[in-house]
Amino acid sequence: MHIPYYDLQQISASFEPQLSQRIQAVVAGGRYLHGEELAAFERDFARYVGARHCIGVANGLDALTLVLMAWKRLKGWGDGDEVCVPALTFVATAEAVNRAGLRPVFCDVGKDFVMTEQTLLPHLTPQTRAVIPVHLYGHPCPMDSINALASSRGIMVLEDAAQAHGASTGGHKTGSMGHAAAFSMYPGKNLGALGDGGCVTTDNEELAQTVRMFANYGAQQKYVHRVQGINSRLSEIQAAALNVKLPRLDADNARRRNVARFYNTHITNPLVRLPYEGRVAQSVFHIYPVLCRRRDKLQQYLQERGIETLIHYPIPVHKQEAYAAYNAQSFPMAELVAREVLSLPITQFLTEEELHYIVSAVNAFR
Ligand SMILES: *Cc1c(COP(=O)(O)O)cnc(C)c1O
Repeated sequence: MHIPYYDLQQISASFEPQLSQRIQAVVAGGRYLHGEELAAFERDFARYVGARHCIGVANGLDALTLVLMAWKRLKGWGDGDEVCVPALTFVATAEAVNRAGLRPVFCDVGKDFVMTEQTLLPHLTPQTRAVIPVHLYGHPCPMDSINALASSRGIMVLEDAAQAHGASTGGHKTGSMGHAAAFSMYPGKNLGALGDGGCVTTDNEELAQTVRMFANYGAQQKYVHRVQGINSRLSEIQAAALNVKLPRLDADNARRRNVARFYNTHITNPLVRLPYEGRVAQSVFHIYPVLCRRRDKLQQYLQERGIETLIHYPIPVHKQEAYAAYNAQSFPMAELVAREVLSLPITQFLTEEELHYIVSAVNAFR
């Protein structure tokens, strides 16, 4: 048996023929940027998330960067002002801070792999202007306590929701709980385009307009540039693909949760630790992460049995060469996860037979 980690071809095929038809209509229509598909996506995704505004941009890194650029201007932040980010995340979260001319300050993650009020608190300083809770693996951060801490210090909250489309906590969807949020629609995300894509969500009108301005070469009016911006657009073809896929997001997330529930109840190997103490309620399981002391051996064992797994992420951001100035810092939980985490396959298309096969292999590992 061969079980790929995920199969984009299979995912796309499951949206046919609507997907190809909608893209063909864009091709025939001759309008490739800033058209009806983008407008529809921004309207529908804002409504889905429960935010007042959605701004489509080119990718998730831009979405994060543009919010920080906009706040820096609106709030008069200085170069090198601090933004707190978790040490365990995809590198984009930290790079966005650097790109905006601000300084990333790392914090550890808690037992659910995400930033908490407790891991954040020791790293806040008088120079902290914003925090970026990352809903890593699809699991929402404890936003009530993070928001309360941030608001008591006048700090802005930018959710990195790139892995958490459709997740919710306390009745609020990710992307509606901070002052703003950044999403990525990279093909492998829970809501994925057929190339790069991203968006910003926020309730704040002024921020929304400023993000649009920065994403449009700093212009609100053609050829009148108020700031030095960037070019960051979500194309009509990508928006069309997202419009076909969005209506099925909740159903796909529910299927991922069912896979997680299956793993939770059937994986019984004492060498393998289940995520979130076996709870499934909160996450949309962008990733199903297990911990194992002999992770590399487990990965090889599964590979030999045709089961593809990945590691998210083998090196925490503060240990990367690109962040050499931070290499001496220590974040024990982030480092433990990097050493022990393994992502099992979790697409919406895994069959009963495949799931039993994966579980038997994991349980047979010694
Ligand atoms: C994917 C991802 C990003 C970046 O998104 P891109 O669209 O690849 O730029 C940012 N943060 C997290 C947590 C991600 O998983």
